[in-house]
Amino acid sequence: MSNNEEVAPLDFIRQIVANDVSEGKHQGRVVTRFPPEPNGFLHIGHAKSICLNFGVASEYPGGQCNLRFDDTNPLKEEDLYIQSIRTDVKWLGFDWQEHMYYASDYFEPLYKFAERLIEDGHAFVCELNVEQMREYRGTLTEAGKESPWRNRPMAESLDLLRRMRAGEFPEGRYTLRAKIDMASPNINMRDPVIYRILHAHHHQTAGQWCIYPTYDYAHCISDALEGITHSLCTLEFEDHRPLYDWILDRLSGVLSCHPQQIEFSRLVLEYTVVSKRKLNALVRSGAVDGWDDPRMPTISGLRRRGYTPSAIREFCRRIGISKTPNNVELSLLESCIRDDLEQHAPRAMAVLNPLKVVITTVAEEHCAELSAANHPQNPALGSRKLYWMREIIIEREDFAENPPKQFKRLVPGGEVRLRHAYVIRCDEVIKDPASGEVVELRCSHDPATLHANPSDRKVKGVIHWLPLARSCPAEIRSYETLFNTANPDEEWQGDDFTRLLNPNSLQILSASRIEEGLQNLPPGTIYQFERQGYFCVDSKYSSPGKPVFNRTVGLRDSWGKQQNKES
Ligand code: ATP
Ligand code: MG
Repeated sequence: MSNNEEVAPLDFIRQIVANDVSEGKHQGRVVTRFPPEPNGFLHIGHAKSICLNFGVASEYPGGQCNLRFDDTNPLKEEDLYIQSIRTDVKWLGFDWQEHMYYASDYFEPLYKFAERLIEDGHAFVCELNVEQMREYRGTLTEAGKESPWRNRPMAESLDLLRRMRAGEFPEGRYTLRAKIDMASPNINMRDPVIYRILHAHHHQTAGQWCIYPTYDYAHCISDALEGITHSLCTLEFEDHRPLYDWILDRLSGVLSCHPQQIEFSRLVLEYTVVSKRKLNALVRSGAVDGWDDPRMPTISGLRRRGYTPSAIREFCRRIGISKTPNNVELSLLESCIRDDLEQHAPRAMAVLNPLKVVITTVAEEHCAELSAANHPQNPALGSRKLYWMREIIIEREDFAENPPKQFKRLVPGGEVRLRHAYVIRCDEVIKDPASGEVVELRCSHDPATLHANPSDRKVKGVIHWLPLARSCPAEIRSYETLFNTANPDEEWQGDDFTRLLNPNSLQILSASRIEEGLQNLPPGTIYQFERQGYFCVDSKYSSPGKPVFNRTVGLRDSWGKQQNKES
């Protein structure tokens, strides 16, 4: 990808930021943040947000993007997730420098501000339980009812909040609520809870707290404390913006910064789900091999599958940023990795489903070196040796005894070119007498056809092959989509998702063979196996001498049309 292509177009958010900077708003500074909740691994949707937040900041001198863990729910969060998020953001190519924070860093000021809200008459301690609170909340068409505790004396609320903090009460006994407007058409503004009692261990603050702020309360204040200028989030937070602004306005005396929240549409990708809750359900059910299963839309799954950071960034660039629904076809993601690997991945040959071929015109002990370029357009990638021997293997599906029309590969009595080698003719088909299965072909080669076509006849097909004795076994893992439906998110009900899963999403080919030079590659190495696609050495199951390859993507778009293998 050229540097040119990496420059993001001016979407509506970049236009707002550019205007603000030119008008000298926020002293001309640009500070953004990526605020994941550490309750799961990052997915491709997060990549969109990461590319936007880090991208916008990087486009301005002195621009800064913080990584902030929004860790206000200790029940669902884990250190494992924090580590994976750091790894994934870095791997995507972004750097928060020294600006890594936790919302829990601000628990003390958040608490102080809560006392202040009470003192200023903007918050009260409530005794309604969850059920009652739901009742009082009202509906989209009906106003809510005010809590009987709404007008309790300020000193009483303050005392209760202090005792909540001191651990005097069980969970659910009291909550702290903002005093806004129970008749607001926006339900988020109907006296939302801002603190609840939770006797839970927190991964950062351990046993220090037994009351925890809600997301809405903590998020806007964390943004303000960090001096965020543009708080970019997805559209589901649009209805929360009035609350975001309300809280910051009430605290304007103590907070010097009021970030601007701007919403954009979240990425939805065909044939998969982008919700940590649902991805977590897949992991827990054992339907996938962990968060980094190569079929998962997680950053770690995509990495294990063979996706590169630049391909994912390019994908985010192509989908763009807007407020309209961002439902994206899988073929767009696949074309990004294909375009990247097409340029960079060295070529090799692998036979996934071998059929033995004996070249009768080659002597038993014969072994001639042939040279094969590692990349057709990029000589810098060099070349390698192949060995021309009597016993070779070809792809079983490249031979047909009763070929369909247009079949350009090997047929009885017919000829085909072996990639980087000779034209061979199939003279004899040997079958298993019992099953009738073809077990071997006997072929002769035309010695005049090394790297040259015969002049007296036309040979159309070219197939890949390997010398049997100088190839080695490999396990190839081939993938289809995890779900059998294009919109699994919509069809997902409760936690019953098994009926949505594609039973063929993983195929393991264990009889495959690869060029002998590929036996001990480090995990993550990517090759194009000619005519088959791009393959990446698996980081979990591959070991020296026992390589396992994941099929990253096929060579051409196979969506909606039959893959054309005749070339
Ligand atoms: P999930 O439903 O997967 O848990 P989330 O929004 O709750 O998603 P967070 O960890 O809170 O996950 O997200 C961190 C940031 O990433 C937020 O600013 C959020 O808006 C953004 N984000 C999450 N999912 C997507 C998506 N599909 N497309 C774009 N941005 C996303
Ligand atoms: Mg969330």
